[in-house]
Amino acid sequence: MTFMRWRQFTNEAVNALVRETRPGVYLLARGRKHVDYVGWAGRDLKATLRQHLAKGYHVFSFEYALSPRAAFRKGCALYHHYRPIDNQGHPVPPERTGWQCPLTGCQYSH
Ligand SMILES: [Zn+2]
Repeated sequence: MTFMRWRQFTNEAVNALVRETRPGVYLLARGRKHVDYVGWAGRDLKATLRQHLAKGYHVFSFEYALSPRAAFRKGCALYHHYRPIDNQGHPVPPERTGWQCPLTGCQYSH
């Protein structure tokens, strides 16, 4: 997967780097060796990222998505790829969307 490189996870960096109000996915980490959290945002990546500030993460990486559904599917793929320790579970599709995980055999793909 192509991702931007790790950046310092500060309010200033988020404001400077995530300039557009768009859907997207992101990775959070306390160090640079393991991805500790994977997230997706269906509408406003910057606002969603801000909710994770001051929770002990030191670096982040992000990528915009073309649509909310694309962000969800990317988030699923990243979740399966990294199996991040801080995620409570698999990304859950918003109600009534019918969105599915792209991974065949996953419980969210049917
Ligand atoms: Zn899945």
